[in-house]
Amino acid sequence: MKTINKYNPYDQMLAVLDSAAEKLGYNLNDYVALRYPERVLTVAVPVEMDDGSLNVFTGYRIQHSSSRGPCKGGIRFHPSVDLNEVKALAAWMTWKCAVVNIPYGGAKGGIEVDPSKLSPRELNRLTRRYTAAILPILGPERDIPAPDVNTDARVMGWIMDTYSMFKGFAVPGVVTGKPIEIGGSLGRKEATGRGVSIVTEAIAFRAGLPIQKAKIAVQGFGNVGGTTAKIFYEKGYTVAAVSDVDSGLYNEKGLNIAAIAKYAEANNTLKGYSEKGSVEISNEDLLKLDVDILVPAAMENQLTAENANGIKAKIIVEGANGPTTTEADAILNEKGVILVPDILANAGGVIVSYFEWVQNLQAIFWDEHEIYSMLKRIMIKAFDEVYALACEKDISLRISAYMVALDRVVKAKKIRGIFP
Ligand code: NAD
Repeated sequence: MKTINKYNPYDQMLAVLDSAAEKLGYNLNDYVALRYPERVLTVAVPVEMDDGSLNVFTGYRIQHSSSRGPCKGGIRFHPSVDLNEVKALAAWMTWKCAVVNIPYGGAKGGIEVDPSKLSPRELNRLTRRYTAAILPILGPERDIPAPDVNTDARVMGWIMDTYSMFKGFAVPGVVTGKPIEIGGSLGRKEATGRGVSIVTEAIAFRAGLPIQKAKIAVQGFGNVGGTTAKIFYEKGYTVAAVSDVDSGLYNEKGLNIAAIAKYAEANNTLKGYSEKGSVEISNEDLLKLDVDILVPAAMENQLTAENANGIKAKIIVEGANGPTTTEADAILNEKGVILVPDILANAGGVIVSYFEWVQNLQAIFWDEHEIYSMLKRIMIKAFDEVYALACEKDISLRISAYMVALDRVVKAKKIRGIFP
């Protein structure tokens, strides 16, 4: 097989997939189709800017697998979006939905754009034109987008409206992470962070680390990192460091996350915030702090061969997708660091997206208590399964999670058979 490009996330995904397949005793024929995305759509998205000029953005929607159900996955607006990133993110969605055993395949979308440079009207036109361009492959029974980096409930509302306008009637189930007023689910916004906090508590317990005494660092202060830090803080845990793309903060006694969240909401950045005892640190400093638990919750390729040796945390919980390169993964494993992989750790978002879709299809709504207790049940069940297999086979939690996931997808594929 070809050499792995250490920063190509799709190659990294394939490397883990091949290891999991080998451990399961599969030969290539059993899973080779899953090394390729089922459908790749690249679209040109022309947008009239507020000054009358025309900009053409490149967008993608990639469906990796539909073997276990409709494709599911977020949409990212970011300047570094490219084909390989979206392919990897789509495949990770397949494994994520399978490891927590919800009836979806995997997909992902993205536009190569810096949305902070667009006005709200330009962002609206960009979203709607992109939705129109990928519309033939969307639908509640086909492919259901959700938020990801730099997209939120407002953007999901525009997607829902655009799709519905083409159909001629309201179709809330075409997208999840929508505003509550148009069919969004209670708890969806906080779901990924809540899931991260559930598995962090579970792994700390298994590792014999009293979480009340642990020092925690969280990289990224957006939907996932910000919510995770807030939940830890509300539970009385010590969040010693947080960061966003502009800046990082450290206070060994614990930061006031409620005050930081307020500041970030008002200023759209952590830059400029300070409190008694806090110092400003870089993102790179944050990763190497003397903490017990590290939660990378920003972007891919943050933990690399260059910094993995300097990481002091005993436990890493991957809030982001693909934050650890294959090389860093091997180094951390060798060092005895316990790592809960992305496909398990950040699955809370897609689980509550699944609840939102079910509520939309049935036109009934559940309360927050029902949603959180079902979320916890599914996360813990998946965690226990992955943990037990890792102990039984003496393998990393990442390989174990991929084995659980791959086995489910391969079984579904075999039962369905290859068409024609
Ligand atoms: P977001 O846009 O809400 O937040 C991203 C955060 O990361 C921001 O605070 C940003 O400043 C920071 N950031 C960006 N680039 C950075 C860098 N180079 N270094 C440090 N910080 C940086 O995005 P999000 O929805 O929180 O997503 C974060 C990660 O979690 C992504 O990998 C995403 O795919 C994954 N994820 C998100 C969800 C979800 O429900 N939103 C679900 C599962 C996984």
